[in-house]
This record gives sequence, C-alpha cells and structure tokens, in this order.
Amino acid sequence: MTTETLKVDSAAVEVHDVHKWYGAHRVLNGVELTVRPGEVTVILGPSGSGKSTLLRVINHLEKPEVGYVSVNGELIGVRRHGDRLKELSERVILAQRSRIGFVFQNFNLFPHLTVLDNVAAAPVATGRLKKPEAQELARDLLGRVGLADRTGAYPRQLSGGQQQRVAIARALALRPGVILFDEPTSALDPELVGEVLAVIKDLATSGTTLVVVTHEIGFAREVADRVVFMDGGRIVEQGPPAEVLDHPKHERTRDFLSKVL
Ligand code: ADP
Ligand code: MG
Repeated sequence: MTTETLKVDSAAVEVHDVHKWYGAHRVLNGVELTVRPGEVTVILGPSGSGKSTLLRVINHLEKPEVGYVSVNGELIGVRRHGDRLKELSERVILAQRSRIGFVFQNFNLFPHLTVLDNVAAAPVATGRLKKPEAQELARDLLGRVGLADRTGAYPRQLSGGQQQRVAIARALALRPGVILFDEPTSALDPELVGEVLAVIKDLATSGTTLVVVTHEIGFAREVADRVVFMDGGRIVEQGPPAEVLDHPKHERTRDFLSKVL
C-alpha cells in the first residue's frame, strides 16, 4: 500500500462498468464483475467476445476508456484526487502488476533462462528476495507443480505441458493476490491438457483466487465457483456452474454451449 493507492473494498477483483474501445471498435461494453478472495471464476465465450481484453484490463496491460478496476482492494490505473480519479504513476502500476499473476496461452517463458531462473527472476527483479532465497522459493514451487527434477532445464527442452507448469510456478513466485489465466491449455496437445488443469485445480482447492478463461467445460463444472459467459463485450450471464452450464437462461449461452460441449 502506498499513499498513491486507495483501498476500495474487500473483493479480490472488482470490475465496474468497464468500457474499452479501439477507434470505432467497441470491445468491452460495460462489464461488471466481482471476484471474492479464494473464489475461482471461469470465463467462457466465443472468440472475439472480449475475454482476453478483460484480463488485460485487470492486469493493467490495457486502460479502459470508462469505468474502473480494483485488484486486492486497490484501484487499478487511477487514484482518487478530490472526487476525480487520476492516473497512477508507472511505479505504482508496476507494483500493482507484480501482485497479479498472469498465465498466457503460449507460456511466454524466458528462453535463455533455466526453469529455476524463470521462476526466481521476478522476486529478484522486484527486490523482494535475494537470489538464493528466490531460488529456494523457485525449487519449492517447481516441486509443487511436479517439476522438481527439471530445474536445470531450458524451456525448449520441456514439453508444452511442462512449460505451462513452469509458467504457473513463475506466477506463484510473486505471491499474487489473484492469478489470471488466458486459455492456459489452448496451445497444448490434447494429451498434455490434463496435467496443466490438475495443477490449476490444486491451486483452486488450496484457496488461491483464480480467474480462468478456458473452453474446458468439464474443468469449469468441476472447479469453478462461478461461471461467467461473455459475448459482444458484455457479460451475458453468470452464476454457479450448475446454473450457467446446465440451465443457461440466455439463447446465446445455450448456442455457445451446444458448440463446445
Ligand atoms: P477473446 O479473447 O474473447 O477472443 P479479445 O479480447 O482478444 O477476445 O478481442 C475482442 C475484440 O477486440 C476482437 O474483435 C479483437 O479483434 C479486438 N481487439 C483486441 N485487441 C485489439 C487491439 N489492440 N486493437 C484493435 N482491436 C483489438
Ligand atoms: Mg482471447
């Protein structure tokens, strides 16, 4: 917490009336979303519905034209100035981003670093840990994702499923308040999907706050506290998996589910 930031509430993630556009192209059209600490939210929706953009707004990679986001009780991208909201400094944005984990479809590991150093890099770069401590933490986390024996390998020597598990360990190394996953298994061969979903499920059951964009309906049914269906830059419906997946209220949700199930 710095004086530049402001506690807004106890939600892990709060998205309020967020609009995002590129020129005339409206990508998010008034998104409202609240994620409570420890909750697992799965976001479903057709390609182009704005799922990645929503995650990128939550992680400060994109700025909304209207609305605001708070993560871990701090407003993202703005600070209160009188009764107006002002832009945050780059320093505060970086500090906030370092408390949000992000796992990408294509892993995005550092190719020139070993698995161990991929995981240890951020806590050192942010000044939170000295290198030996960061490496010890990295060893622990790599054990947790089942890769204790691959710490000295380089990313190219690993399967896609192993690389994605390294990426998850890397996200955990920042001890984030929330981890965002953008289609974490979409780039994997089908036989490697299960090992990555098992690691995410392990995080879910240990109380980590997760927001997961995925087309894995079985995973959503089993692991999500809440399923959110997006279409056209809006949340069309949301609720417990048994409601949204088995008794969708909206035609667009039914149509989408009939295609992916
Ligand atoms: P999803 O992840 O649900 O497939 P995205 O959030 O990636 O959807 O994209 C939503 C829409 O926004 C798409 O039509 C996409 O082409 C558009 N879009 C995303 N990023 C940009 C950008 N940087 N510039 C212009 N249009 C973009
Ligand atoms: Mg996407």
